[in-house]
Amino acid sequence: MGERPVPARVRPSWDDYFITIAWVVSSRSSCSRRAVGALIVTDKRIVSTGYNGTPFGVANCDEGGCPRCASDEPAQAGYDWCLCVHAEQNAIALAARQGTATQGATIYVTLRPCFGCLKEAIQAGIREIVFDQPFDYLPSLEEAYQTLVRQSGITLRQHNYSAAHPVPPLAAPAVHQTGPEMPDVTE
Ligand SMILES: [Zn+2]
Ligand SMILES: [Zn+2]
Ligand SMILES: [Zn+2]
Repeated sequence: MGERPVPARVRPSWDDYFITIAWVVSSRSSCSRRAVGALIVTDKRIVSTGYNGTPFGVANCDEGGCPRCASDEPAQAGYDWCLCVHAEQNAIALAARQGTATQGATIYVTLRPCFGCLKEAIQAGIREIVFDQPFDYLPSLEEAYQTLVRQSGITLRQHNYSAAHPVPPLAAPAVHQTGPEMPDVTE
């Protein structure tokens, strides 16, 4: 008996690996609007995960738990009365619950973080945000967003899938392909 040939294994990059897991995390979302997943990574170890949905003890969003999400309020409107906790907020809050440090971490998220989640990530000591799908803001908010990114020094970048590890099936292809690219803010 000779040696069994070992097939070449193409391993995903860390970024492909973590962003793909973020999509799996998003599959647990209960939000009736859009499923988002996030994970917090320190030294290449996942220390927390989060997906969007109503807080613990509150009826799930897709069961009518959030009146705003169930209304015809357009995207980006009515956030002040939305009961859903964002994926990034949940990942940060669940780390806090468990006493897990987020200082110096990277957060992987399937959608570019909103203004609120960006602020919270900065305050949690997160140094880098890697997101998949873009999200457009009105110019005034975009300007404030970019100022915050620049002055805080946080790194924000959109993930590019490698040819060997294309967009995972859970990602919404239409949104992914038609969304505008983010401006390069990381220099
Ligand atoms: Zn919702
Ligand atoms: Zn909501
Ligand atoms: Zn958010």
